[in-house]
Amino acid sequence: MKRTDTGGLKIVDINHIRNINQTVLLHLIRERQPISRAKIASVTGLRPGTISTIVNRLIKKGVIYEGAEGPSSGGRKPTYLYINGDNAYVLAIDLGVRETVYAVSDFNGRILGQKATVTKGDPREFLEHLADEIETTIKKHYSRFKFAGIGVSVPGLIKRETGEVAVSPNLGWSDLPVKAILESKLKLPVFVENDANAAAFSELWYGPLEEIRVKTLLYILVVDGLGTGLIINGELHVGSRIGMGGFGHMCLERNGELCSCGRKGCWETLASESATIARYHRLMSNKNGSMTTSISEIITKANKGDEKALAALTATAEYLGEGIASLAHGLSPETVVVGGDIATAWNLIGPIITEKVKSRYIVPEVARIDIRPGSVQRPSLFGAIPVALQHFF
Ligand SMILES: [Zn+2]
Repeated sequence: MKRTDTGGLKIVDINHIRNINQTVLLHLIRERQPISRAKIASVTGLRPGTISTIVNRLIKKGVIYEGAEGPSSGGRKPTYLYINGDNAYVLAIDLGVRETVYAVSDFNGRILGQKATVTKGDPREFLEHLADEIETTIKKHYSRFKFAGIGVSVPGLIKRETGEVAVSPNLGWSDLPVKAILESKLKLPVFVENDANAAAFSELWYGPLEEIRVKTLLYILVVDGLGTGLIINGELHVGSRIGMGGFGHMCLERNGELCSCGRKGCWETLASESATIARYHRLMSNKNGSMTTSISEIITKANKGDEKALAALTATAEYLGEGIASLAHGLSPETVVVGGDIATAWNLIGPIITEKVKSRYIVPEVARIDIRPGSVQRPSLFGAIPVALQHFF
């Protein structure tokens, strides 16, 4: 591999940055269409040459097209670019601990259909059954030839090159060839990604355009477990071949609760949805109140003034702040995003997280980090769309 310069960002993996830049570019064209190449350059900071290369490739693929000429400011009249949204579809699958959701999206980022099913039983049988169901749905509602590929999001450790789930403590799966099973059934290219990494991708595809130049974004995905995805210099950080969604298993309490990974006191045992629900149950133990099983119920109760629900969420927010503060000192991100259903309680947890991070800072820069909720409510599903897209080009 050789180093190259793509619009001011020094990177090593040329293909990867090209794909990420395409995702960002498509997002920009989609949101601002019609848009000229010059405008793209001014918004993204990418070099005109880089933009031309990507734009030409996307036109060749039929993903975007050139439309009417814009007004000239002296020189050659600029042509505007549009998304050919209906040209191709992608399928996103989010394999969740309790529920698996799949969705069909076009290139405009529109969700054309979405369906949920309970995740259960033998994992191989479950995936084969899921594939049959998806095949039936595609045949019934869509033109099969339009599908460019499938992005799959899994909470666990992924062998990225082969699309195998090495181990998923939360799902209880191990050594499962997800890519091979789905490809043999659906006859479409399948790309498997860790759920927190997919969530980080969801910000490139659905996040605020003002952040398009952000170089380091840390995503904290709070679901049954807790994972992190990291985008550095426009590139998803995957480390070695196997990635586990990062920092969810860093130890915050040496003698803490037993984690799904078999160790004690991981960040996940303190700040995940399961941890919040367990904390709420502990707080309720002296009462005869009904057992709450979802984070949404706890959030609803907290918003209505239920003190125990609020206390459970407050503790979670403090632990999120603790972890983010440590990571922020090491990674120095411009933006930290907290996603998952818990982000719907941002009015309650946001100020606590921010305050906790600020109270822990050693260098003033950490206090200037933008900490915000995720842009989409099911980031691991919506992030599986760009996971499929980036391999399409
Ligand atoms: Zn753990």
